[in-house]
Amino acid sequence: MKKYLALILAFVMLFALGAVSVSADDGRVTATGTGQGIDGNVVVEIEADADTIYSVTVLEQNETPGIGSVAVEKLPGAIVAANSIAVDGISGATVTSTAIKTAITEALTSAGIDPAPFEIAPEAAAAAEKTPVTLDCDVVIVGAGGAGLTAAVRATQEGAKVLVLEKMPMVGGNSLKASGGMNCADTKFQEAAGITDSGVEEFIEDTMNGGHQLNDRALVTTLAENSAEAVEWLESIGAPLPKVAATGGTTHKYLHSPEDGSPVGSYLVAKLSEEAEKQGIEIMLNTTATEILMQDGAAVGVKAEDSAHDYTINAKAVILATGGFGSNFDLMCSFNPSLANAVTTNHPGATGDGIMMAEAVGAATVDMDQIQLHPTVYQATSMLVSEKMRSLGAILVNQEGKRFCNDLSTRDAVSAAELQQTGGYAYIIFDQNLVDHNKSAQEYINKGMAAQGASYEELAVNMGLEGDAVQNFVETMDVWNKAVASGVDEEFGRNNGMDDDLSTAPFYAIQIAPGIHHTMGGIKIDTDAEVISTDGSVIPGLFAAGETTGGVHGGNRIGGNAVCDFVVFGRIAGLNAADYAAALELAPAA
Ligand code: ADP
Repeated sequence: MKKYLALILAFVMLFALGAVSVSADDGRVTATGTGQGIDGNVVVEIEADADTIYSVTVLEQNETPGIGSVAVEKLPGAIVAANSIAVDGISGATVTSTAIKTAITEALTSAGIDPAPFEIAPEAAAAAEKTPVTLDCDVVIVGAGGAGLTAAVRATQEGAKVLVLEKMPMVGGNSLKASGGMNCADTKFQEAAGITDSGVEEFIEDTMNGGHQLNDRALVTTLAENSAEAVEWLESIGAPLPKVAATGGTTHKYLHSPEDGSPVGSYLVAKLSEEAEKQGIEIMLNTTATEILMQDGAAVGVKAEDSAHDYTINAKAVILATGGFGSNFDLMCSFNPSLANAVTTNHPGATGDGIMMAEAVGAATVDMDQIQLHPTVYQATSMLVSEKMRSLGAILVNQEGKRFCNDLSTRDAVSAAELQQTGGYAYIIFDQNLVDHNKSAQEYINKGMAAQGASYEELAVNMGLEGDAVQNFVETMDVWNKAVASGVDEEFGRNNGMDDDLSTAPFYAIQIAPGIHHTMGGIKIDTDAEVISTDGSVIPGLFAAGETTGGVHGGNRIGGNAVCDFVVFGRIAGLNAADYAAALELAPAA
């Protein structure tokens, strides 16, 4: 029920603010959305209602002529004709196709329309008998989010013939939504910024402390020790992350992000897809893996299906990169029933398939009950307001106009503090200077999520604060700006994200509350990304990376570590699976 109310609220707010318009006659909605293309944003306008996408118009794009431009020309019509975004992308234009589909999904969501029915392949119901198809490759990768794409590129660099299966109509998974950055230690970018105190040791301890020491220290050590090489590898494929800042729950500056302030997830997914395309890697969209094939105790492929085919995919090695289960309420509630009514920031494909497939072949799982609430979720559309906003200087205040915690503490601590406030929610406050340095902030404003004011007082009134709360808010802002000037937050001991104060008008506020964000638990792996069975032995040929695994983040993931996780362990899984496949080639299993 709460979810429906949230959708109605989203619709009303967005309509009121002009980001969405509705026809008086038939309830059709016109809305816009944005996706990351090859060169900047792809902006689309859609006309839709809950059952039908009537039109899709690309308003803005700068895609490669002859490649991406073909997708811009053809895909909108194909989507309208099929009334589904689960149509095939345009071959050779994965990035542009994903950008268009992401933009449509975002437009639907911002109009309060559930995108899920449009993500099902149109012929799914029609195909009674599916055609059996057998395919062969060296390494089959299940999932084309950050971990799967990284592993695919890395394994191909190693000479493996790779096939990637993705159940959704587009690549990217939850990774596409990552807006902050990638934590890395001892990097050349830190050195260039004069940051000398944020090394591997500090990164390990911050991650262990953030995760309440529940993390697997060996995995955390691998994460930190390989992070600098991982960020350099990203640069080598054309995806540099040169800007460095602090993030929530850390004592140091590790968060690396794109030069132009773009959200890290869409940036990396676009760059990794582009690289995969250059390498000729086949990514089968709308194709769901259902089972791991085993022979003599080793993984030798997967079974998969799309709307018309049953696939048997024979491979020498299998990589599970299926992401977490933050959209599988049954599974989450089996560990924590109190989450039943929470909103989730996760994409609909985050259902834990890889974990269940791995368990079916004897894999062990760890920390399945560790499910993270993120403290800054705009409840109306379940949209995450990035932690980077606070890293760049934003603060949190309550309905009384007061700060109530160290705003950049760990996500679990800030979420818990928020739930104690009147109404269980708070506001994130930022200023024009922050907007000028962060593209996501501008997006939030464009989406109609933020109240605005030319003065602190005006903002307070527009936020809906009343009585003493208005003056409290003005005082809170003055005290905070002085704390930034002195570098000391006497009230709550915040010591990060204090480079800039919040004194540049106009001022902004977004109402936020905690939402389900990351499932820390999952498949047990070792530092080589090999899957570990319930008896403690390695399952030969089976590798896993990213959110589908457990142990890296322990009881609480710190911001910026999901991206580091998928790049570091995606690379390890890709390399090791390719090497395992090559070794089998030389010495075939008996
Ligand atoms: P990570 O950050 O670990 O890469 P993501 O959520 O970004 O996690 O990506 C996981 C991807 O795996 C998603 O795109 C999701 O749709 C895909 N996926 C999940 N289950 C399956 C499955 N059974 N078959 C194919 N793809 C899957």
